[in-house]
Amino acid sequence: MRRKLVVGNWKMNGSRAANASLLSGIVAGFDAAQADSAVCVPAPYLAQCEAVLAGTPIGWGAQDVSAHASGAYTGEVSAQMLAEFGCRYVIVGHSERRAYHAESSELVAQKAVAVIGAGMTPIVCVGETLDEREAGQTNVVVRNQLAHVLERLDAYGVAKIVVAYEPVWAIGTGRTATPEMAQEVHARLRAQLAEKNAVAAGKVQILYGGSMKPDNAKELMAQPDIDGGLIGGAALKAADFLAIIHAA
Ligand code: PGA
Repeated sequence: MRRKLVVGNWKMNGSRAANASLLSGIVAGFDAAQADSAVCVPAPYLAQCEAVLAGTPIGWGAQDVSAHASGAYTGEVSAQMLAEFGCRYVIVGHSERRAYHAESSELVAQKAVAVIGAGMTPIVCVGETLDEREAGQTNVVVRNQLAHVLERLDAYGVAKIVVAYEPVWAIGTGRTATPEMAQEVHARLRAQLAEKNAVAAGKVQILYGGSMKPDNAKELMAQPDIDGGLIGGAALKAADFLAIIHAA
């Protein structure tokens, strides 16, 4: 069976002081028997995560990465640099990156490949906007987003990704997909992975993200193809984040 995975996406939140108390709260209450867990934090705080979380079962990671290995790319951070700080995961293709930084699915695919190449796990985000859902385009949109990544991977690579289905209309809005709506998309994503390799598809963790909270997490994660959560707002309070891990 797939282990459940609960990942906190802190987005552009935190301070050294706030992180210290959030991380120590998570460490104190975490029970590795319940699920795997990690926090994806702003790059300047990776060293702090490494200092606090090394030796604990909780992983840490970044929220974005350059597709390039090194060179004249001012402001960018390479996968190798993230690996040097002990990152286990890197989020790629979050809808906020796609929307505010015009990231294409092709660029997201290149980033996923760079992350795997540096020995880490990309958390590949896909999801439709409200307009796309209302136009009946959900399946086409998420399939196309994932297809770009799968085109660049062999079966071995496919087994190394985590997928996160995050309907854009559910992110930070308090409006969650129903467990049935999410399960339907997750099942399609897994079938798409299986077209590439059935064994790998059975192993890939597919997370749901978008207003997952302590009070809806259990129902969502009870669905057969929902293997955990990518948590924004509720990851900024240790008690809420731990409650979601507990629900897994
Ligand atoms: P949210 O964010 O939990 O605040 O909706 C999830 C995400 O954007 O990863």
